[in-house]
Amino acid sequence: MAIALDSPVTELKGVGEALAKKLAILGIKTVYDLIDYYPRRYEDYSNLTTINSLKPGPVSIQAKINHAKGRYVRRGMHITEAIASDNTGSIKLVWFNQPYRSASLKASQEYYLSGNFELRNQRFSITNPSIEMVSDMPVNTARIIPVYKETKGLSSYQIRGALKQCIDLIKKLPEILPPTITKKAKLMTHAEAILNLHFPKSSDDLAIARHRLAYEEVFSLSLASLLNKQEIKSEKSLSIDFLQQLAKDFVDKLPFQLTAGQRKIIWQIYLDLQKTQPMNRLVEGDVGSGKTVVATMAALMPLAQDWQVALMAPTEILARQHAETIHNLLKPLGMHQSVGLLVGSLKKSQKEAAHEAIKNAEIKFIIGTHALIQEAVDMHKLALIVIDEQHRFGVKQRKQLMSKAGHMPHVLSLTATPIPRSLALTLYGEMDVSILDEKPKNRAVIETTIKSPNSRPALYDEIDQEIDKGRQAFVVCPLISESEALNAKSAEETFQEMKKGYFKNRRIGLLHGKLKAELKQAIMQDFIDHKFDILVSTTVIEVGVDVPNATVMLIESAERFGLAQIHQLRGRVGRSEHPGYCYLMLSDSKPPSRRIRALESSNDGFKLAELDLDIRGPGAIYGTMQHGQLDLRIASLTDSKLIAEARNNAQELIDSGENLLQYKELMKTVNKLRAVTNLN
Ligand code: ADP
Ligand code: MG
Repeated sequence: MAIALDSPVTELKGVGEALAKKLAILGIKTVYDLIDYYPRRYEDYSNLTTINSLKPGPVSIQAKINHAKGRYVRRGMHITEAIASDNTGSIKLVWFNQPYRSASLKASQEYYLSGNFELRNQRFSITNPSIEMVSDMPVNTARIIPVYKETKGLSSYQIRGALKQCIDLIKKLPEILPPTITKKAKLMTHAEAILNLHFPKSSDDLAIARHRLAYEEVFSLSLASLLNKQEIKSEKSLSIDFLQQLAKDFVDKLPFQLTAGQRKIIWQIYLDLQKTQPMNRLVEGDVGSGKTVVATMAALMPLAQDWQVALMAPTEILARQHAETIHNLLKPLGMHQSVGLLVGSLKKSQKEAAHEAIKNAEIKFIIGTHALIQEAVDMHKLALIVIDEQHRFGVKQRKQLMSKAGHMPHVLSLTATPIPRSLALTLYGEMDVSILDEKPKNRAVIETTIKSPNSRPALYDEIDQEIDKGRQAFVVCPLISESEALNAKSAEETFQEMKKGYFKNRRIGLLHGKLKAELKQAIMQDFIDHKFDILVSTTVIEVGVDVPNATVMLIESAERFGLAQIHQLRGRVGRSEHPGYCYLMLSDSKPPSRRIRALESSNDGFKLAELDLDIRGPGAIYGTMQHGQLDLRIASLTDSKLIAEARNNAQELIDSGENLLQYKELMKTVNKLRAVTNLN
C-alpha cells in the first residue's frame, strides 16, 4: 500500500516501533510531520573531487573500495580500514566502531563517499565517511546534506533514510499560496520548495526554496494580522467626543510642557476615539519618554463623558505607582476622586468596596493588575482599556478584559520594548503603531560605564559615597541562586557577599521572582520608602518601577543580558534631579563585546534594539515578548524587504475580495495564527 501524508511513520521501511518512539519525541508521528520537519543546517558535500586533488576538510568522492578489513584494537575499540580508488589514485578510509562495515562493502561496486579528509597517525585518510551506492539521488553523500535536530538514538541519517521514501509524496504536495501570489512574487512551487529543503539540488536552489518558505510564513502571518485588523475595525465601538477646552486645561496645568512627540500621539488617539470603530493602537516609547501622561490624556475624554477607563499593569507595584501618578495628574482638574485601585493584595472588604464603587461608577478610572480580569468586576461603562507594557499580557487575558465590557472598548497599548519597524509590522500587524521617539528635554543623562571584576573595590567605594549622600542603589543579577553550569553572578550570592563584606553597615534587601507576590511587593515598597540602601535583585524590577532616589544601577554579569533589557534596567535610575550611574560589571576580564560597548555610547533604545537584532537575531527582542506560537522557522524578522512585500500582497489579496476559503491549506494556518496574534 502506498504511503499517504497521514500514514503513521511506522509504514515507512526501516521505521519500527523503537524508532517511531524516538521520532515521536521530536513531534513526528505521521509522514506529514516528517516532511514538515525542517533541517537545522546543511553540510555541503556536493562537490565530487578526484582522489588526486583531495584537500583537507569535508570531501566527497566516487570510488571503488578494496581491502576492507576490520579488527579490534584496544579495549573493545574496533577499526575498519579500506582503500578507495578512482582512476586518479587511492586513499585510505577509516571507520571507528562500525564492525559490520567491511562485510557490507562489495568489491566492484561504485560508491559515493563523503567525510572528512584529515591527517591521522601521520597519514591522510577519510575518517568515518558516509557511503552509499552511486545513484541519481544520493541521500547521505555527494550532495548538500541536511542535518536535523536529533535526539538520543535517532540521527539525521535515519531521518534522511525515512524522508527518501517520501519523495514522490513531497512532489505531489498541494500548493498553499494563491496562484496569483506565487506568480506575482515569482516563487518556486510549495512542493518543489519542500523537496529542495530536504534534498537540495544546489545551494542556489536551496536559497530559492528557503525564500519561498519564508515568504509563506510571513504572508500567512500578515494575512492573519490583517484579517484580525479588519475584524476589529468592523466591530462597533463608542464614539468619544473630543472636548477641546478640557484638553487645554489639562495641558495648562501640567508641571511641564508636552514634547512634540507626545502631542502628536495624543492627537492621533483623540482622532481614533471619535470613530465608531474600536481603536487598537500601540504606543512604543523608550523608558522615560512619558507614556503615562499620554495615557492619562487619552482617558480624559471618556472620563469627562461619564464612561470608564481601565488601566492594566503587569505588576502590583506598577499599578500602585500608576494610580498615584494619575491621581496627581488629574488633581488640578478635580477629576482625581474617580481614580481607584484594584489589585490582588487588597483585603476582602476593600475589594468588595472597590467592586461596588466600580459598578456604580464612583470609580471611573480603574487601575489594576490581573485582578482586573480575574475578578467578577462589572465594567459595563468601560470605554477605554490602557495596557501598560503590553507584551506582558497574553492574548487570552486581553480578550477576557474586553468581554467584561459587553462591547468592544478602545484599546491603547503602551510598551517600552523598542521594536524596529519591520518587527512591529509583523508582530503587531493588527495594531496602529505610534512611535514616541523623543524624550523630554533637560532629562539627566545616565552615565554608563563598563567594569571588569578587578575594579570592583573602587566601584564599591563610589557606590558607598552615593549611599553616604543619601542615595540608593540597585544591583541586578542574571540568576537567583548559584549555578554550576553558568559563570554568572546570582542574586543570593551577591546579597550574602555584600551583606557580610564591604556593605556590612548598609541596609540591603533581596528581591527575586521566586518570592511570593506579597513579599515582593513589601520589599519593593520598603526600598521605595528608603528602608534599604541597596536592593539586590533579578530582573523582576525591570519594568517601569519608579524610585527617584535611586541613582546607581549595577548590573552583574552584564554580558548575559540583552541590550534592550539593560537599557530598560538603567532607565530605573536618573529619574530625579540627581544624576544616574549605570555600571555594567562583566563576569571576567576579557574585553567587552561590541554589544556591551554599544550601551556605553548610545542611549537610544531603538538603536540598541536594532543592533541587538543585527547581532543576536530576533530572539533577543522577540524572546522577551509573549509571542505564543509565532516562531518563524525560516523567515528572518530582519528581512524588511520580504516582510513589506508579503504584507502588501496579503493586503491586496484581502482587497481583491476573493473568497479566501477556497485556499483551505493557507486558511488552516492563518486561522491558527489569528488565534495567537494579538487581540483576536
Ligand atoms: P514611561 O514612558 O517610561 O512610562 P513616564 O510616563 O513614567 O515614562 O514618564 C517619566 C517621567 O517623565 C515622569 O516623571 C513624567 O512626569 C515625566 N514627563 C513626562 N512627560 C514629560 C515632559 N513632556 N517633560 C518633562 N517631563 C515629562
Ligand atoms: Mg511607564
